[in-house]
Amino acid sequence: MSRPLVPGATIGVLGSGQLGRMLALSARRMGYRVQTYSHDRDTPTGQVADREWVGEYMDLASVGEFAQAVDAVTFEFENVPFEAAAQAAEYTRVRPDGHVLHTAQHRLREKTFLSDNGFPTAAFERVADRASLDHAIQRIGCPAVLKTAGFGYDGKGQAIIHEPADADQAWQAIGTGEAVLEAFVDFAREVSVVGARGADGAFCHFGLIENRHRDHILDVSIPDRAVDDEQREAAVAIARGILEQLDVVGVLCVEFFVRRDGTLLVNELAPRPHNSGHFSFDACLTSQFEQQLRTVCGLPMGEPQRLQPSAMVNLLGDVWDGGDPDWAAAVADPRVKLHLYGKAEPRPGRKMGHITAFDDDGEAAAARALAARAALIRQSE
Ligand code: AMP
Repeated sequence: MSRPLVPGATIGVLGSGQLGRMLALSARRMGYRVQTYSHDRDTPTGQVADREWVGEYMDLASVGEFAQAVDAVTFEFENVPFEAAAQAAEYTRVRPDGHVLHTAQHRLREKTFLSDNGFPTAAFERVADRASLDHAIQRIGCPAVLKTAGFGYDGKGQAIIHEPADADQAWQAIGTGEAVLEAFVDFAREVSVVGARGADGAFCHFGLIENRHRDHILDVSIPDRAVDDEQREAAVAIARGILEQLDVVGVLCVEFFVRRDGTLLVNELAPRPHNSGHFSFDACLTSQFEQQLRTVCGLPMGEPQRLQPSAMVNLLGDVWDGGDPDWAAAVADPRVKLHLYGKAEPRPGRKMGHITAFDDDGEAAAARALAARAALIRQSE
């Protein structure tokens, strides 16, 4: 095992969004330096980093230069091409290893990995072209969900097929070569487990988090909702198994569907801190971002224990619809923490920030967070 990277070392982040920003804030607090690489300028991560590199991920010469300027590389976004991670690994340690990115950034590889290793998923079929979609519909049945194989997130690149006659429209809607057809899951709830694993194999997690979506985008996460112990243990065991099987050194989130009979199906993996774990920034002794930093650096992990029951709600660009939000009203409740990611343009559906609120239990905290969000939206005339 390589020597730990101690404060003063420089962490390189491929990707420059809010996940990199919160990692960078944690890293700087502990005295590390941070450099970020993406094709944008004045980015959420770049604003709080020591240096912002602007380049294409497939400009491998430039990625190589970046890797030589830092002591370790991690990523905050799984759609970084794995070739960029492989190039960085020629010069420095990359954590998690590029093979984790390679598996998790492509739905077909991800689902094949999960089912080959005995982790539960919805039934799925590879769809190579329009003709094979009809065969896949026959095998999977309806309703089903057609998803692009690569580079999808937040429900982008997805279409529901209610009956075989929807195939043409769905195929055109996702507009791609390779896809995956997956059985529609009539789930009772969606949950996630954010796990972290050190280079020595140590594992920790942030419990079972309930996630409520709106238009396929995460809206509310409640880490402290009362759930059945058996379900929590089953989800954590699956997450742990996945981190171990993939030999992850870093943070990885497993998203699940909970079926009406209480059984779990894995929906997706995210090989990095996750939106559902944002509560941990304020609510845990060690956040998912600090855990990412510690695992990347080879330091022992911190205790992920919750300090208080909390809940998180996302702030999308839509909250600007009536004009500039009323930030003072949002923080009028002293048990509310406001996070904004420094993005200049509030487009609908774009994640601009989040609110974490605290109360005696998760549902009460969620009600507080939702009230704070409602208070900041100005009503248009
Ligand atoms: P994804 O980008 O695959 O995580 O999908 C985004 C959201 O779409 C999920 O969180 C679900 O709410 C919904 N969804 C995705 N796949 C399915 C499915 N097979 N059955 C039912 N809902 C789904």
